[in-house]
Amino acid sequence: MEIRKIGVVGAGQMGSGIAQVAAQAGYEVVLRDVEQRFLERGLAGIQRSLGKLLEKGRLTQKQHDAALANLKTTLTLEALEDCDLVVEAIVENEATKAELFRELDTLVQPGAILASNTSSIPITRLAAYTRRPERFIGMHFMNPVPLMELVEVIRGFLTSDETTQAVLETARRMGKTPVEVNDFPGFVSNRVLLPMLNEAIQCVMEGVATPEAIDQVMKLGMNHPMGPLTLADFIGLDTCLSIMEVLHQGLGDDKYRPSPLLRKMVQAGLYGRKSGRGFYRYDEKGNKIG
Ligand code: NAD
Repeated sequence: MEIRKIGVVGAGQMGSGIAQVAAQAGYEVVLRDVEQRFLERGLAGIQRSLGKLLEKGRLTQKQHDAALANLKTTLTLEALEDCDLVVEAIVENEATKAELFRELDTLVQPGAILASNTSSIPITRLAAYTRRPERFIGMHFMNPVPLMELVEVIRGFLTSDETTQAVLETARRMGKTPVEVNDFPGFVSNRVLLPMLNEAIQCVMEGVATPEAIDQVMKLGMNHPMGPLTLADFIGLDTCLSIMEVLHQGLGDDKYRPSPLLRKMVQAGLYGRKSGRGFYRYDEKGNKIG
């Protein structure tokens, strides 16, 4: 099956990145969010990112302009009705995603594929909210999407080979390397990564070291390009908490218990980079200021 037009739902940090790489790959793209200000923020991020790629000579002016021309934004879900593939990238909340997928299922063509960028919610469970579980799949991009090579492709229990092949091909055309994994809580990436971030947060809570010191230990000692607390802020502490809860509930082992400090920071509205404050502080462009 041929994918020509891609819908992306959610213009946050992930959705805007997915829309950008799809537009750069030559797909016709429609990006949807619930408020104009979110669309504007997403589009501004895309323009900034494409501008940087142009400056660095990684894109020609023609490719830069073509990517922008391929991209449209919308507040209505109906604008996605003729998409061949819709990638969902809204908040990491099962009830919210379920409502969206029910609606999308009745809206898009029967042959269209629905994909979720969820970090941890089981694909099989999300697929069950639709009447097309064979054309439902996980397409888990990494943050920041334009720079990270991996797409974890997660097959639900009923996902067809044809759907998987179409999505693997689409990810490759976007310049990514897809890796197929099966549907378990947290898949591979977050099952391995998040407990490490959670442990770093627990170290802050117990006073083992400051966030700066913990980040330095992991960077200098383990050769990680980014310290775990900087990375947690970057992912979003609300998203980190949701993933830990899915791991804890889904795997039933207390080793996945979210750190009480993580829970408290999310309750206080400290979501990390996107809210201006987490373990560090950020200006409105997302640059670390302390
Ligand atoms: P975000 O908070 O930056 O963006 C979410 C966007 O979705 C917001 O703009 C919000 O207005 C919009 N939204 C909410 N409900 C909507 C609806 N019904 N229709 C349209 N738009 C809606 O979040 P994010 O970090 O981009 O994460 C999005 C998804 O990607 C989550 O499932 C998350 O787990 C997953 N993910 C995140 C990362 C990461 O590093 N942040 C990495 C991989 C996957």
